[in-house]
Amino acid sequence: VPTANLDDVSEYQDLFEEFGASFVPKEKSLKSLIHDMCVEEESEDAFYIVDLSKVVRQMLQWKAYLPRVTPFYAIKCNPSPAIMRIVEAMGGGFDCASKQEIGAAALLLKGENDKRIIYANPCKLPSHMRYARGAGVEMVTVDNEDELHKIKKHWPDAKVIIRIVTDDSHSVCRFSSKFGAQIKDCNHLVSVCRELDLNLTGISFHVGSGCFNEIAFVQAITCAREVFDIAERHGFKLSLLDIGGGFPGITEEGKPSFIQIANAIRDLLDELFPVDQVQIIAEPGRYYACASHTLVTHIFARRKVHKINPEDDGSDYLYYINDGVYQSFNCLLFDHAEIKSVRSIDMSEDFEDGTGNEQTGPKLKSTIFGPTCDSMDCIVKGIDLPVLDLGDVLYFPDFGAYTVAASSAFNGFKTVIMKYIWKN
Ligand code: PLP
Repeated sequence: VPTANLDDVSEYQDLFEEFGASFVPKEKSLKSLIHDMCVEEESEDAFYIVDLSKVVRQMLQWKAYLPRVTPFYAIKCNPSPAIMRIVEAMGGGFDCASKQEIGAAALLLKGENDKRIIYANPCKLPSHMRYARGAGVEMVTVDNEDELHKIKKHWPDAKVIIRIVTDDSHSVCRFSSKFGAQIKDCNHLVSVCRELDLNLTGISFHVGSGCFNEIAFVQAITCAREVFDIAERHGFKLSLLDIGGGFPGITEEGKPSFIQIANAIRDLLDELFPVDQVQIIAEPGRYYACASHTLVTHIFARRKVHKINPEDDGSDYLYYINDGVYQSFNCLLFDHAEIKSVRSIDMSEDFEDGTGNEQTGPKLKSTIFGPTCDSMDCIVKGIDLPVLDLGDVLYFPDFGAYTVAASSAFNGFKTVIMKYIWKN
């Protein structure tokens, strides 16, 4: 059973320094750090604390538990230059979904686009395919016959990777209604590759994002083997397996941890895909991004609701904070995220780590809105909170996955300040 030593990351100090990250001792609590930063911060804008040492630790853990699988970071999850740089420096590659993402990865890689970029969007614009080819990218995923004809026309020398459908019922964000060839159709797709003289190289899948059952990976890996065998019957010797994303970035109750998933698949991969014949890659996104970011906001407006009807079950207080559904909280819509608890800091008190700065008193039904003029811009409704004040800080740890990535500047608000730290 592998173990990972995640204690000392000082060897990566140069990388942290590239982003001007400040060193924070391990003993300092997140709350105390946020308090200090908010006291210093002159702008009224929300900001992120980005702990780069967490990205390094995730990579060390990945290498320990899935040493055979090269992670290709799914940039779409959070195109943070710092996360990308760490992944690149520690030997990972990039899963790109578009010309723009390929451009960003290529800039960082300065060569090796053939080996360290996979264009993993099964349905592609021809201009993006031509761009990828021009940039020296070789690996590309495909899941339908028309796409194979597009490949023939725009990128005939590509290394074609057929993305197969998975049972994604074990995942929060499901993709199988949109992507993935049915296993029963793979025989035909492989024969089209043969007719078009395409370079069929491998098989990929994605179990869905936020996977809560490691069996989904086991089943998908087994199906991939079936398709390897189909391809072999057509005379193709496949050399690449891509096990996609879906690995959790934090451990949540009732869901398998990354380590549990890795333990469930590590030996199976070796059993079904001989080490000397098949290269294995993955496309983790949230695994790297989730825990690295903490969003820090504050209450800039408040309204006490005078209920007309005493039976009314609406909130007693409405709070307005400086990031919302059109910004980082777009994850409520697009990533099925839910805000189950709210952490706050009373900024009017002197800070006492461990004990202080908790608002006390009775809890009242409260609603938290984002800063825009839209009532849909609601972060959480009817949550029980003590009475909070203007200037109080609300913070949201583990907020790096599918948050900043799709944030807009609607109404002129957008959280752009990143404060990099590292801990040892
Ligand atoms: N690969 C592909 C093709 C995806 O569509 C996604 C997410 O949408 C990912 C990888 C990353 O998934 P995750 O963040 O769950 O690891």
